[in-house]
Parts: sequence; C-alpha cells; structure tokens
Amino acid sequence: MKLAVFDNYRVGIVDGDMIHDITDVVPGAGDETWPPNFVNRMIDDWPVLRERVEGARKHAKRIPIDAVALLPPNPGPCQIVAAPANYRKHIAEMGDLAVTPKGKSAAQQGVFLKAPSSVTGPSRGIELPRGSKRRFDHESELAVIIGTKARNVPRDRAMQHVFGYTCLIDVTMRIDGEKSEERSMRKSFDTFTPIGPWIVTADELIHPGNLETQLFVNGERRQSANTADMIVSVPELIEIASSVMTLWPGDIIATGTPEGIGAIKAGDIVAIKIEGIGEMHVPVRETDAVPPRIF
Ligand code: MN
Repeated sequence: MKLAVFDNYRVGIVDGDMIHDITDVVPGAGDETWPPNFVNRMIDDWPVLRERVEGARKHAKRIPIDAVALLPPNPGPCQIVAAPANYRKHIAEMGDLAVTPKGKSAAQQGVFLKAPSSVTGPSRGIELPRGSKRRFDHESELAVIIGTKARNVPRDRAMQHVFGYTCLIDVTMRIDGEKSEERSMRKSFDTFTPIGPWIVTADELIHPGNLETQLFVNGERRQSANTADMIVSVPELIEIASSVMTLWPGDIIATGTPEGIGAIKAGDIVAIKIEGIGEMHVPVRETDAVPPRIF
C-alpha cells in the first residue's frame, strides 16, 4: 500500500495516478493544529487500523494525484536518524572533505540526527537561504519508516520493526575546504529533508537491500546506484540506532548517499526515483534571509 499525506494533512492511498481519500478513518488527519503527529499514531495503530483503511478505500473519494499538494508522508516524525558514509564510492569522492575519519561507517562511528523540523514534501520543496555563499548539495537516500517501538533490537529481528519506505533527499550545506562544522546543523535547515512522494508499506517492498536508486537535477542524472552497495545494511542500522535510542513508530532512518552528490540552486527541480517506491519531484527555491545570519 502507498500512503500519502496531501492538502491540509489529509491521508490517501495512492493507486496509479489516483489518490483515494481515507482521511475520515485516520484519527487526527485533516487537522492542521500542531503537532502533526497523526501519522505516527496511524502507524502505531496499524494492526487495528489497516482493515478500516482497506474498507474505507472501497468508497473513498478518488482524486487525480496531479490535483493535490503532496506533503511529507510523515509530517511529524519524532526522530530522523541518518547514516554517515554508507557507500564506498561516496567516501572516495569526498576525499579530504570527508567528515568521517578514514571512511569509518556507522558500524564504527554510529549514526547522527537531523532535525525533525527539516522535513518537507514536493509541494513546499527545498528552501535555500537567499544570498548564501555556501554550497548546498543533494544526497539521494532510501528512507526507512519505523513501524513498532524498537530498543536494543538485534539485526536478525530488525525488519519486524519496519513499517515501510520512502525516498529522501538529505540536503547538506558544505563549503570547500571546511569540514569542522557540526554535521547535524548543516543538514537541519527547514526543508532540508524532503521525503515522499508517499510511504510504501514493507509488505510491498521485500528487498530494501536491492533497489535501484537515481537522482536527477533538471532532468540530468546525477546519482545512480543500488542499495546493495550499502556498507551498513538496513537491519544493521536499526540495530546500531536502537542500541542508543528508542526508535518510535514513524521515525525515519536515512540510509546514506551513494556517489554523485552535487550542488543545487534556486530554480532547480530535483527528482529522486527509487525502484518499488516511485518518483518525487522537488522544486528548489530561496527563502528570505533574516539577519543576524551566519550562513
Ligand atoms: Mn546523507
């Protein structure tokens, strides 16, 4: 099942180029009051809710997907956990700029966090600080959506805790010759974590470790890889993250980028495409910079 969030926090099932509006059976959906945590609760309630959702689909209002504004399919995750340096060719292309000493993977150095407030969807897009002299890069990543509370979960049981998957762009601020800045900050501006266009539930995507992934900027292919090339696999990332923190339903794990990262600028359209999930088109804009600002 493909689950999308659209317009004013409505929830729908995506079927081809149509969306079936099932907002009425998802508690808290369609309500714009903060916090937008109804997707976390939907996922937590999924064993009970799934049947109601499937029932509601039969007589749901059908809307062309082109006619809705797609929001992030989880607008309010509790945590965004991210893998550093998870593809060897990406470590090689970073060279001396690699933050990761000697190319250590998550298995040696652990994971890092991105601000949950950085999530965005195709309709809002990515907003870069106007007039910044810094470089802002795209990173194409498979995202895992946690399904059930996970703490100290060994890798051989980790996949039981996965609800589904989505596409994720880990937007990152860089500057030539500079690697000492805090990684979390450089990746946590508002809108620096586009996710979508929807969540595909895990029952429809059996092999997350063998998916073709691609990223395009203005139609030009910049990144192309297979998740089979990950150094630390999805179950091992869950093992590592859950050994430190409780992972909650709706939490997101960004699994790291392959080679081919590059700069984006206002006016660009970034497209990320992952086999078995779909394709998300994200516009890049500039946001007003308000002093004092250092970037
Ligand atoms: Mn990344």
